[in-house]
Amino acid sequence: MNQEAFEKLNNEIESQGASLIAVSKTKSVEDILKVYGMGQRMFGENKAQEMLHKYQQLPKDIQWHFIGHLQRNKVKYIAPFVSLIHSVDSLSLLMEIEKEAGKCGRVVDVLLQFFIADETTKFGLDISEAISLLESPAFKAMKHIRICGVMGMATNTENSLKIKGEFAGLAAIYRKLKTVYFNDEDSFCHISMGMSHDYKLALKNGATLVRIGSAIFGER
Ligand SMILES: *Cc1c(COP(=O)(O)O)cnc(C)c1O
Repeated sequence: MNQEAFEKLNNEIESQGASLIAVSKTKSVEDILKVYGMGQRMFGENKAQEMLHKYQQLPKDIQWHFIGHLQRNKVKYIAPFVSLIHSVDSLSLLMEIEKEAGKCGRVVDVLLQFFIADETTKFGLDISEAISLLESPAFKAMKHIRICGVMGMATNTENSLKIKGEFAGLAAIYRKLKTVYFNDEDSFCHISMGMSHDYKLALKNGATLVRIGSAIFGER
């Protein structure tokens, strides 16, 4: 993507009150530097060690977003520097992040990932699992975690009505959690949804963070 196309995409996203996460998984540090040079500072990765290697080699003003399924034994690689973990899908994962964030003396920002698609391969909580996580004594005791919103992935389909329904469902989950658990917390403000093929629908349905890879970097 050239500078002009990048600016057009970024303006489209920002004019709707959202921010662009450039998903750089599998892409080289040289590829990332090109997009950095266009002004992008938030990048998304889905493998912990890959993200660590890129963090070590790239400018320190990059904000690294972890967007993939995170195994507990990999949390230690990213806890010192990660900007936002989009993909918290269990209390046990959250407990591991709490532990590693504590070791670094950090408060780590996270999103709760919800399962909103049809596909059985996707990870995520349902609303009742999220409620039991939020009401658990283990969560209430955490001092190194800040939950900043929700994340989800729609079904990979051409059916835009279906995608729209799934995004609207995630936005409804966000509003419910906001009202019941985070009403006084301005930091609970994010709905992370939308990828290259469905980000326009996500923006229409209230996304605040869109995660776009192939439209920027080309096919993987
Ligand atoms: C790869 C990925 C994206 C970006 O997908 P594109 O189709 O390349 O835009 C977004 N979110 C998650 C969780 C991903 O794994």
